[in-house]
Order: sequence, then structure tokens, then C-alpha cells
Amino acid sequence: MFKKFTDVEDFLVWMAEECGTDVTTVLDTKMRAEGALDAFYEIRDEVEILNRENEILKDKLQLLSPFKKWNCDGCNKGIEVQKDHVSEYCCSGFECGCMGLPINPAFCDECTKKVFGKDSYLDS
Ligand SMILES: [Zn+2]
Ligand SMILES: [Zn+2]
Repeated sequence: MFKKFTDVEDFLVWMAEECGTDVTTVLDTKMRAEGALDAFYEIRDEVEILNRENEILKDKLQLLSPFKKWNCDGCNKGIEVQKDHVSEYCCSGFECGCMGLPINPAFCDECTKKVFGKDSYLDS
């Protein structure tokens, strides 16, 4: 299922039907942004929003999101992290076990499994 919308209201009506958000106008999105946001995140990979108006809606929903885009600290894949996430470093990594990498890395699902999925590092 991949849908294209050229009109933001069409998109919202469709989203209301598909996801039961009740949001059918741009005005509604301000009033009931949370439900719309959840729904938007669920279907955003399946829709293509075409015109500028919809870009604004996307931005607006993005602003309301508690998450932001990030690149996995392990494999660089695009992921989402808490909006206030910032990399914290120990040092440049010179002669230190941190190797200059963030001490609070954000990992994608695969890297999380790779890093934390084993009982101990000795298993590898
Ligand atoms: Zn990764
Ligand atoms: Zn260090």
C-alpha cells in the first residue's frame, strides 16, 4: 500500500478513515495533534505527501514529536531518538577505552541486539 496525496485535507481525511484519528482538517491537527501524530508515524512510510502545504504539516508534526532523527552510533543507519538526546563523550579517545566514541550511544535495533544481545562480551 503506497499512496500519494496532493492535498493535505485529502491526506487527513484518508488518515482519519485508515487510522481513526478524527482529524480531517489542518485546524483539527492543532487541536488533536497527538492522535494524528501517532497515526502519521504509523503510515508515513506508506504515503507520499506532495505539495508544500503538506511539507508544512510534516514539519508541524515533526515539531510535536518527542523524537528526532539520528544516525545509529553503530552503523550510521537512520533512527529516531529522544529529542533531547545529545552525544556525550569521555575524551578524544587517546589511550582510553572509550576510543573517542559517545559514552551514551544510540543504536538501531540491529546494533542494540549486537551490542546488548549477548550475555557477556566473552561469548563472542
Ligand atoms: Zn546500527
Ligand atoms: Zn575516554
